Amino acid sequence: MKEMSQHTISIIIPVHNEEKNVPALYAALQSVMAGLSQYDYEYIFVDDGSTDGSVEAICAIVSRTQHARLVEFTRNFGKELATTAGIAAAKGDAIIMIDADMQHPPSLIPALVKKWEEGSEVVVGVRTKNTNEGFIKKYGSLLYYRIMRAISETPTVRGETDYRLIDRAVADTFLKLGEHERMTRSLINWLGFRKTCVTFVAKERLHGEAAYSHIKLLRLAISTFVANSLLPLRFAGYLGMAITLLSFALGTAVFVQRYVLHDFLGWNVSGPAQLAILNVFLVGITLSCLGLIALYVGRINAEVTNRPLYVVRKRKNL
Ligand code: UDP
Ligand code: MG
Repeated sequence: MKEMSQHTISIIIPVHNEEKNVPALYAALQSVMAGLSQYDYEYIFVDDGSTDGSVEAICAIVSRTQHARLVEFTRNFGKELATTAGIAAAKGDAIIMIDADMQHPPSLIPALVKKWEEGSEVVVGVRTKNTNEGFIKKYGSLLYYRIMRAISETPTVRGETDYRLIDRAVADTFLKLGEHERMTRSLINWLGFRKTCVTFVAKERLHGEAAYSHIKLLRLAISTFVANSLLPLRFAGYLGMAITLLSFALGTAVFVQRYVLHDFLGWNVSGPAQLAILNVFLVGITLSCLGLIALYVGRINAEVTNRPLYVVRKRKNL
């Protein structure tokens, strides 16, 4: 059990064109935080290049309470970077990230905090059902988690959202990660730490349209696949090896049959067919080399992203 007094909870809210949702979220957060009176708290609104009245809506809140702060981007940088900016600005011992559109119910916050009090360092909101999700989004996300589980070394549970609480220690380590193409939740998963889940039912967004179109989501998904795995390139390598081996075996068989046994079996393989086998063999070698390159690209990628070599939770007697 953590000591109750004096701890601060930071709530980070990435905002992109949410002028109507901001006041509603603020009201909901206020009533939840009133129930967690043992904690000090702060709201960090990160305005991610909104073109509506979101900044004004946030400023109205900031001028009303000491607890609210605003980080305003010059343009739209995307939710992942908005969240990162929020984490960088947060002073809390626990940091909660929540969407501004009320799809992440603020009423879940006490449950997140309770798990943290019990010793979890990452508490993830897991979406059990999204009643109003479209067909493409539903099956797209199903496929996404399937593939992620298959390829990544730090798998994601299906339904994991960005709605999560992280401990100060996690935030400090997170801020050391410098990669530009980032997906907050898969980076946090990569860090390790003690993780638990709390489930919730996602509702429809309160006002406005989801900013993430299908194309944008697909782009994000592909970028996480690429960031987490070299499997597609390696696959080309494996395919190449298989083709090389098979065509080599076939070529040898044809060669021996034709020129050593003098067409003993009567296969009667024509000249062009022999050439075709040779060609396939060469294609196999090319593909194998691609797979080999994947190994080097992987090493370069690891060096360039410059992730910490390991993450330490605690040191004693050091
Ligand atoms: N958001 C953002 N920058 C963007 C797009 C979205 O900060 O470029 C914020 C948005 O205001 C909301 C959260 O990220 O608070 C989730 O966005 P959205 O509801 O559009 O995504 P979805 O619910 O479809 O995942
Ligand atoms: Mg939403």
